Amino acid sequence: MSYTNAFSPDYTTARNRFRASALALGCRLEAYSIEETGPDGEDLTIDVAMLGNANPQQVVVVSSGLHGVEGFFGSAVQCALLEERLVSWKRSQEMALLLLHGLNPYGFAWCRRWNEDNIDLNRNFLLPGEEYRGSPQKYGDLNAFFNPTSPPSRFEPFVLKAIAIILGYGITSLTKTLPVGQYDFPQGLFFGGHSPSKTYHILDANLSRWIGEATDVVHIDLHTGLGKKATYKLFIDDPPESKSHQWLTEKFGADYVEADQTRKVTYKFRGGLGTWCQAKFPQSNYRYLTAEFGTYPVIQVVEALRAENRAHFFAPANHPSKEWTSQRLKEVFVPADKSWRSRCVSQGLDLVGQAIAAF
Ligand SMILES: [Zn+2]
Repeated sequence: MSYTNAFSPDYTTARNRFRASALALGCRLEAYSIEETGPDGEDLTIDVAMLGNANPQQVVVVSSGLHGVEGFFGSAVQCALLEERLVSWKRSQEMALLLLHGLNPYGFAWCRRWNEDNIDLNRNFLLPGEEYRGSPQKYGDLNAFFNPTSPPSRFEPFVLKAIAIILGYGITSLTKTLPVGQYDFPQGLFFGGHSPSKTYHILDANLSRWIGEATDVVHIDLHTGLGKKATYKLFIDDPPESKSHQWLTEKFGADYVEADQTRKVTYKFRGGLGTWCQAKFPQSNYRYLTAEFGTYPVIQVVEALRAENRAHFFAPANHPSKEWTSQRLKEVFVPADKSWRSRCVSQGLDLVGQAIAAF
């Protein structure tokens, strides 16, 4: 079965489809405006669908679009889930399903990975007491290279590799420095923000009500852009020796579950949604998996991010780079290739099926 038709051409189509499919299945629906508008002046919302027990013991959460443009994929999984898989879902009485659609609706609508304030939302969920400032030493050194204050050109395809060589950094070191996040360069890549985002406030105000008194939660946050093409990995924060790590490996497969690699580097990334959710529910077994579906080699992904960010901030209106960088960004996060799309949605659906069956 092909799932290519689960993909929507734009945010509004995706949102309407998600809501219609959820309603048809009898879900309870909520919508939260982020008080921003899309390219056609449309209101941008985070949409929430709930199915099953209103006071559940177990909850499976599936969230999409924390990284804006990646939402095209996450939404496709959620829509296919609602339209096909869940129709015949034999769930336990105590269970509920919570679907969070388009956690970064601005990035989804405008085809950016970042939100309306250029924030990487997966670096914005700081824990109480953590400060919205600081960056890895190397980020400061490399800021001028990663975030030039000029429009991009189509003709510098190997620039990152060249920079790595010139500066004597290995490319692995570069790609590990960048994504851990930073709080000092508001126009730079992987900026975590200077304060909690609207998405943060919306989740903070409602997540406790949605999860209720559940003792067991499995939360799958859908992402793209990291890893081997058309395969996935499940990144978890739980230490390898922990019980939850063991449980997750058992349920989702040792080949797929990976302990967070940033634990091994000196600058640990902060502000991840998963750690924040887990801290919010200390009384529950809150298992959080960042599902990353691979698209293109990391160098190409970072290149596309860098070019798009330059066009966004430094190209004049109607500059041709706005269009091509946007298209390229979408391609590196949501490849047009039909077999990638179908295969990844199919894997995403099976993954949610595993989560539902895990209890
Ligand atoms: Zn992502």
